[in-house]
This record gives sequence, structure tokens and C-alpha cells, in this order.
Amino acid sequence: MQYFAEYIWLDGAKPTQQLRSKTRIVSVRGGDAITADELPEWSFDGSSTSQSDGGDSDLLLEPVRVVRDPLRASGLLVMCEVLDAEGKPHATNQRARLRATLDAGAAAQDPWFGFEQEYTLLSAGRPLGFPESGFPAPQGPYYCGVGSGQVFGRELVEQHAQACLDAGLMIYGTNAEVMPGQWEFQIGHRGTEGETADPLSVADHLWIARWLLHRICEANGVSASFEPKPVYGDWNGAGAHTNFSTLAMRDPARGMAAIEDAIERLERVHDEHIASYGADLHQRLTGLHETCSIDRFASGVADRGSSIRIPRSVARQGHGYLEDRRPGANCDPYVVCERILRTVCSEEPPRLAAAS
Ligand code: ADP
Ligand code: MN
Ligand code: MN
Ligand code: MN
Repeated sequence: MQYFAEYIWLDGAKPTQQLRSKTRIVSVRGGDAITADELPEWSFDGSSTSQSDGGDSDLLLEPVRVVRDPLRASGLLVMCEVLDAEGKPHATNQRARLRATLDAGAAAQDPWFGFEQEYTLLSAGRPLGFPESGFPAPQGPYYCGVGSGQVFGRELVEQHAQACLDAGLMIYGTNAEVMPGQWEFQIGHRGTEGETADPLSVADHLWIARWLLHRICEANGVSASFEPKPVYGDWNGAGAHTNFSTLAMRDPARGMAAIEDAIERLERVHDEHIASYGADLHQRLTGLHETCSIDRFASGVADRGSSIRIPRSVARQGHGYLEDRRPGANCDPYVVCERILRTVCSEEPPRLAAAS
């Protein structure tokens, strides 16, 4: 059967890699169980994506995840890793680094992830719900609001959620956020039988969900921004809270001890994590607007002003997961997962940074 296959990859833009994609018609056997290894490798012009020089420009696209394309009658969305001319992971290929960390031992701890992706819908450069001049009424009524004048862009949000579901992504839910025009969707662990929220699946799904959001916005004359602080002043920024657990953290017999150990480790390398959690993070992590200041590390039960929050339900049960509230909306989930796994799942706890 013939399909439109949309090959999706990440470019070499700095400081934030961007999504790219192009279409190829592929012939594969039909059905729901098409796997990435049935799809051909492909190439692209790396000199047009800040990934190579014009003289030696061809780079390879290696299909690594395939889902249904909800926007085309017979279509596939194909997440790819970028390889160099020798077939080795390109320097911009963060997914390969995540694979290496999983193979080095982290996978044995059965890590699960769940990302809360916040974003801002913009029209004519302003968040939806912002008047042409001046500002809307102060924050308060918008979070999880309902009704005209309370929420802006719901139709698009619904279209996107349906598209994620139709694609078979692990979408968990959506909600209107604190600033007008700001929304959230979550991708990751749902507790569904037979579904694994392993880091590669969740991070691939999040990138595909971001691609779908941009794609659906195109058709609506709106754009989605992942800027961590789209409007300065008394307006919430946009983050990507990262929920995380290991086998030990989920174990009723030793869960809370494992969560506490993970938090201790995370505290030791706070600065390294901040450096891996997306550009311009200092604009959002100010200590206001449900964040902890960028140069402080704090943790607490149900504390939305902390770096790491233990959800109340987890504290009550004595096992479960933790929430890293630091990553920005523009973070790369491959990098965030890799950084967390290296800190939490290594045999030895990370060494304390030398005092300066
Ligand atoms: P919040 O209360 O912080 O707004 P949400 O309801 O938006 O939280 O999202 C909860 C997130 O937690 C989801 O992304 C979900 O996938 C994730 N999650 C739930 N349980 C686990 C777990 N055991 N391990 C990892 N992630 C989890
Ligand atoms: Mn949330
Ligand atoms: Mn949120
Ligand atoms: Mn959260």
C-alpha cells in the first residue's frame, strides 16, 4: 500500500533546535503495525538546516518511530534520527545520546516519563485574548476556565488533542493555563495496560505532538510559541514540567526512599540540569509565578514554588513519581530525559560541584 510518509527531524538551529519535515511516498504493507525498520532511509540537505557545509551537505534520516498521520487519509508520521555520511549519529542527534545512557544501565531501572507541555497561541504577534493595545484583565480566571472572555483558542486545542489521539500518541490530557492564550497538553505515562512510557517513546511522542500543533496552527492562521516567557511582567511563563519515576520509586516497599535519593542527587547537579533545560530559562525561573528561582534548589510536597515537587497523592501513598518543574517549554525532551537518567540512575551519585 502507498502512504504519504512525513519524515520529521530536528535541525541544527542554536540555541534551540527546530522541527523540519518533508514528504515521501512509500510503499509498505498496510495495517496498523508498520514499524520504523520497514521504512527506507532518506537524505536531506544539511547545509540548509545548519547541520553541514554546502560542499559535503548530504545527511541521512534514519526512521526510528512511526505513527499514523491523523491529517492525511493514508499517511504516516516518521520521527527520524540524523546520521552523518558514515552513518554515525550527527552531533545534533540528542536522541542517540539518550539511547546511549539507557543502554549504559538506566533502562534496567524501567524509567517512565510524563511531560506537561505548556505553550502560547499567538496571532499578529500577540497571545490570543490580548487586546491590540494594553493588556487583558489580570491573571486569575483563565486557568482551566470556561466561557467567552475566559479562554481563547479552545477549538484549535481540541483539534490538536484529537489529532494526537488519532495518531496513537500517549496524550494524557489538556488544560487552559494561567495566562490568556496559554495552554498545556501532557504526553506520557497514563497507566494504560500494555503501554510503556519509556523515555524514547515519550520523547518521540512529544516531538510528534509539537509537530502536529505547528501543523494545525498553520491552517488556522495562528502560531504556537514555546518561548519560556512570552510576555514580560506579571504573566506566567511556559514550562515543561517533567514527571519521572523508576521501578524503585514506584515500589510500595521502598518508593519514598528512592524518591528522596533521586532528589538528593538532583540537588547536587542543579546547575548542570539548568543548563540542559532549554534556552532563556532565567526569564521564567524567577521565584514568582509558580517557579523556584533559577539559582536555588528546593523540593517539597505539593509545593509549586519548588524545583522538585512531590505530588500530594504520592506523599500519601509513600511511592510513585516526582515532578521536575524546571524545564522550559522550549526544552528538548531527549536532553531532559538523558540528563535526569544520568543523574538519578547512575551507580554512584553525582559528585558535588566544587564550591566557587
Ligand atoms: P500537574 O498537577 O502538575 O498539573 P498534570 O495532571 O498536568 O500534573 O500531569 C501529570 C503528569 O504526570 C502526566 O504527564 C503523567 O504522564 C505523569 N505521570 C503520572 N504518573 C507518573 C509516573 N508514575 N511516572 C512518570 N510520570 C507520571
Ligand atoms: Mn499540568
Ligand atoms: Mn501547567
Ligand atoms: Mn505540573
